[in-house]
This record gives sequence, structure tokens and C-alpha cells, in this order.
Amino acid sequence: MKLLRVEADHPYNVHIGHEVFSLFMEDYRGLLDAADRIVVVADAQVAKLHLDFLLNYLKEFNVSVLTIPSGELAKSVETFMDCHTFLLSEGCSRKSLLLAFGGGATGDVAGFVASTFMRGIPYIQIPTTILAHDSAVGGKTAINHALGKNMIGTFYQPAAVLYDIDLLRTLPPHEVRSGMAEVIKHAFISNEGWLLELLGISDFSKLTADELMAHLEKGIAVKAAIVEEDEFESGMRKYLNFGHTLAHALEGHFGYGKITHGEAVALGMAYALYLSNHAQLDDFLVWCRNNGYPLEKLQEVSFAEVLPFMKKDKKSSKGSLSFVLLEKTGTPFLETIEEKRAEAAYHELVTLIG
Ligand code: NAD
Ligand code: ZN
Repeated sequence: MKLLRVEADHPYNVHIGHEVFSLFMEDYRGLLDAADRIVVVADAQVAKLHLDFLLNYLKEFNVSVLTIPSGELAKSVETFMDCHTFLLSEGCSRKSLLLAFGGGATGDVAGFVASTFMRGIPYIQIPTTILAHDSAVGGKTAINHALGKNMIGTFYQPAAVLYDIDLLRTLPPHEVRSGMAEVIKHAFISNEGWLLELLGISDFSKLTADELMAHLEKGIAVKAAIVEEDEFESGMRKYLNFGHTLAHALEGHFGYGKITHGEAVALGMAYALYLSNHAQLDDFLVWCRNNGYPLEKLQEVSFAEVLPFMKKDKKSSKGSLSFVLLEKTGTPFLETIEEKRAEAAYHELVTLIG
């Protein structure tokens, strides 16, 4: 088991490895004992697969469980209110503790509930996806609005992150792909040697648990270092959006659920690498093909279709678009690009992929 420390406003530990939940009886016993109620907010699919395993470690405590819709559907006002209703009807108070059990969607909505219930109660992130190595660390919480994803939310750090990598074994291949895209994103913005290692993977299913864990640890370390420098995203935290300007546009165009977040990020990174004139674009495209990322989806969408979504990006301004680009691996920067150049580059990339 490995421990990483996040020195945010409210510092906390991220534990990753096997048997991580045994820490409930060790390091976090005090937090659990101090809680007048403990509520697990669990993704429905994750609950089916792994809830008994989690509850087994919490037998001594009086725990209530609320299951919420699996995946992105949970990031709604309805689920947010259902959570509050459940906490109130269970008699929760400011001394209650919430456990968020699921992928990034569950972590985002449960974290938002924790940050708003009676003006804030402690919560522990218990991520169950590869992608959540990113989302469970850093304290961004959110639900979606009909007019935009993640438009309602807070910065609210968890009391701890308990990441049991054995739970990742049940992830379907497209969710593995989705998560590995955020892993390689962390490599692109931080470390050439690690990037080359990742680019050498041609079949995620062949990764051993220990290899996967080593990559997740590195990803968490990158995320944690950036969050420590810029907790509230006034500067370098924006670099975590590498690949995300186009990714959000693709998610918006195809509709959530038609392409996973990470798959869209992989396509967005290909575009950002093209705009960056980055030496590893070809290797990255090969990596995407080998690992089944849906590059062909770029051929199904015209620039005119993604443009309105990219314009909505918080960083963009009139007539130009904003992207995180790479001077080289490990050196990201924010760049404003004229629409015309962005359009030409989009067509060139689509031709290159075709
Ligand atoms: P998710 O939470 O939507 O889960 C994806 C699917 O995997 C769901 O169907 C879920 O039921 C299933 N699943 C989860 N764990 C499983 C397991 N162990 N075995 C089998 N199935 C499992 O997806 P995600 O990719 O983890 O997270 C995406 C969300 O994270 C998005 O809403 C995104 O906005 C958010 N996000 C937030 C941050 C942040 O900083 N807060 C960062 C990145 C992404
Ligand atoms: Zn992302």
C-alpha cells in the first residue's frame, strides 16, 4: 500500500493499493468513531459488484447506504436532492461522515452534497475507476446543468482518499480506456520518460495490477503537486485541461454516454498535439489505435459542429479559441488560436487519421 500526501488548504492522505479498507480500523478509526452517522453514497453498478466487500470492513459501525444512478446520470439536481433528503431522513448532522463509493461521477456529486449539507460535512473518496485517480484528488465537486457540464459545484477537499486497486478488475474495457487517457495526460504534462513507458503499452489488459498501480501513483502525484500549487485554479491547474477543449466539445456533440470522457480526451489530446507540433503525435496515434480509442469519431464531426462548444470553453474569447498546448513533454502552456488556424489544423488531423 502506498501513501501520498496532498498539501491543500485542508491536507489529506491518498492511500492506494491492496487491502486499503483495513485503514478504516487503523488510521481512520477516530474519524469513524467521531461520526454520529456514516452514510455511503454508492454508484448502483458499483454497489452491485463491491458494496458487500466495503461494508465488511465497516461492520462495527452503524452505516446507512444510498445507491444512486450509475455514472453521469447521477450528476443531476435530482440525485443531489435525493442525497440531501436521505441524509436528513437518516437524522444526519454536521457530525456525520459521508463515503463516496464509485467513479468520478459519484465522487463529484457526493462531494458536492458533502460540501453543502449543513454547510459542509467531512467525506472520504473511495474511487472505483481508473479515471477517478484524477477526479478523487483535488477537491473539485460538481453536478451538471442542462446548459453545461459541471456548472454547479464547489472546491471541497475530502478527508482522505482510499483507492483499492483490486476493485478496478471489474471495469469494462471502455472504462479502462477512458481512465488510461487521463493517466497519459498526466504524463504528457509532466514527464517524458514516463510518457515513453506508457506509449509502449499496446494492450491495457496485459498490465499487471502492480504496473497499473505504479502508473496511477504517478498520475496522482502529478495531480497532487498541481493542486498544491493552485488549489482554486487561478493558474497552472488549467494545464490539467490538456486535451479537454476539444474533448468537452466532442462530449457535447455526441451526447454524454456516446463517448466516454477519457476517450474524448484522447481525441482532444491528438488535436492539441497537432496544434503543438509535438514530436510524439504519430506515436500517440498508434497508441490510440492499438488500445481501441475511437479516432474515427473525428471523421464523423465537422469543425463547424464542434466550434460552438469550443467557444463556450471558459478560456476562449471572441474569434479565437484557447487550448493547453505543449512546448515539449512536461512543459504545458495556454495558447490562444485563431479560429481559422484551428479549423485548418482540425482538417489536417482528420486527413492524417483517415
Ligand atoms: P463514472 O463515475 O461515470 O463511471 C463510469 C461507469 O463505470 C459507470 O457506469 C459506473 O457504474 C461504472 N463503474 C465504476 N466503477 C466500476 C467498477 N469498479 N467496476 C465496474 N464498473 C464500474 O466515470 P468516471 O470515468 O470514473 O468519471 C467521470 C466523471 O468524473 C465525469 O463526470 C467527469 O466530469 C468527472 N471528473 C471530475 C474531475 C474532478 O476533478 N472532480 C476530474 C476528472 C473527471
Ligand atoms: Zn478529464
